[in-house]
Amino acid sequence: MSEDCIFCKIIAGEIPAKVVYESANVIAFLDIHPMAEGHTLVVSKEHYATLLDFPEDQLGPFFADLQKVAALLKEKLEADGFNILQNNFPAAGQGVDHFHYHILPRKEGDKVLRLPPVNNSITGDQLDEILEKLK
Ligand code: 5GP
Ligand code: ZN
Repeated sequence: MSEDCIFCKIIAGEIPAKVVYESANVIAFLDIHPMAEGHTLVVSKEHYATLLDFPEDQLGPFFADLQKVAALLKEKLEADGFNILQNNFPAAGQGVDHFHYHILPRKEGDKVLRLPPVNNSITGDQLDEILEKLK
């Protein structure tokens, strides 16, 4: 539990949430500012700030729960698909400093999330420069 963490308070039952699924390791509840009908947050019960802090040996169980919640949402809300998003650090839009995934149920033809077509150009040399940094 981390002081002043809104998700820790939800896990502790200090703040209400619309819980759709719970296991030993995660709690999943509806986002209060939904981007789609049934927008759900899958949140680790232990407080870790980002993916980089999350214990490697817990990733498997976490993903098993994430898969269960995605299947539940798809079936019960009769979604045609879903997006899974996860933000790390403020630069990437993380607003709550507690490791979580977003699941956005999608319907065929909806306008929920439409990434603009990308045709940024990059040269082979520029790609090599990046590759060099990653070695
Ligand atoms: P992030 O930007 O950190 O990836 O996502 C945080 C999400 O948590 C946002 O989509 C926001 O709407 C949601 N959120 C923030 N505070 C609360 C809250 O008190 N209850 C619920 N259910 N969702 C919250
Ligand atoms: Zn927390």
